[in-house]
Amino acid sequence: MAPYPALPLTDSQRKTLISQALAARDGSYSPYSNFRVGACLLGDDGETFIKGANVECASYGGAICAERTAIVKGVSEGVRKFVGLAVTSDVNGMVSPCGICRQVLREFCPLEMPVLLVPASYVEGKTRTIAAAEAEHGSTEDTLVATTMGELLPLSFGPEDLAKPRPGSGANVVPASERDRDATAAA
Ligand SMILES: [Zn+2]
Repeated sequence: MAPYPALPLTDSQRKTLISQALAARDGSYSPYSNFRVGACLLGDDGETFIKGANVECASYGGAICAERTAIVKGVSEGVRKFVGLAVTSDVNGMVSPCGICRQVLREFCPLEMPVLLVPASYVEGKTRTIAAAEAEHGSTEDTLVATTMGELLPLSFGPEDLAKPRPGSGANVVPASERDRDATAAA
């Protein structure tokens, strides 16, 4: 079966993202929800795959989702931009990143980044892939939903918004990307 045509991932990258997300569930610590989630992010070098699983806590608010586990692992190891994400659970339909994760992902991922929502029943070459628009109007049972960061978080707020001029406030913040560029130019 051909990969979903809108995905700017190679077939090999897509397969690895999916298999690593499925494998990442084994790292889940979820004794309270009994709901394992696995995620895998692909760094912008196109070959660094970073797994994450949900980690819960007796103080429930301390729990962290699989997607944020993966992103803080990557970012803290120096990977600051990602080009693909797969998320899965033990459910035979899609599970999608929660609101907080979407915002954290938005910080480090381009809006066009492909996001694969993978059913636990995924079988390479057999499982059907559909777009988000189709998923909204029917069952996602045993179906992979291919979406993007921008579809998950439309009209979003991101780092570049902090760089917008604020007339009269005198409090304009220079975004990190421009600081880096200025530092490079000065060097
Ligand atoms: Zn989350």
